[in-house]
Amino acid sequence: MNRSVPLSITTEMVRALAVNESVCVRPVLRRVTDRATGVETTVPIPCGSTRESRCPSCAKKARWLRMTQCAEGWHRDDEPQEPDDPCDEETDQDNQDNDVDEEQRRVR
Ligand SMILES: [Zn+2]
Repeated sequence: MNRSVPLSITTEMVRALAVNESVCVRPVLRRVTDRATGVETTVPIPCGSTRESRCPSCAKKARWLRMTQCAEGWHRDDEPQEPDDPCDEETDQDNQDNDVDEEQRRVR
């Protein structure tokens, strides 16, 4: 008598299958109400993430979309204007580092 062991489906198995089939692995569930009948249904919507670590399928689709948009010329031909008053914290941080360096030079 040959008895088969029942298979248990794990989360990793479902994720691997979704990635294999290019389906979103983290769908967002939205409740949709039909205005005519009033029936409520739950609809899964792709997450749309651009990070491969979060959702490889959506990231791959977004990458292909960006590549297509670039090929079709959806990008700017000119550089954007730089802001007149740059007030970044990094700039302030750089200035502080320079001040520290100058103080150290004076001490020596
Ligand atoms: Zn996704």
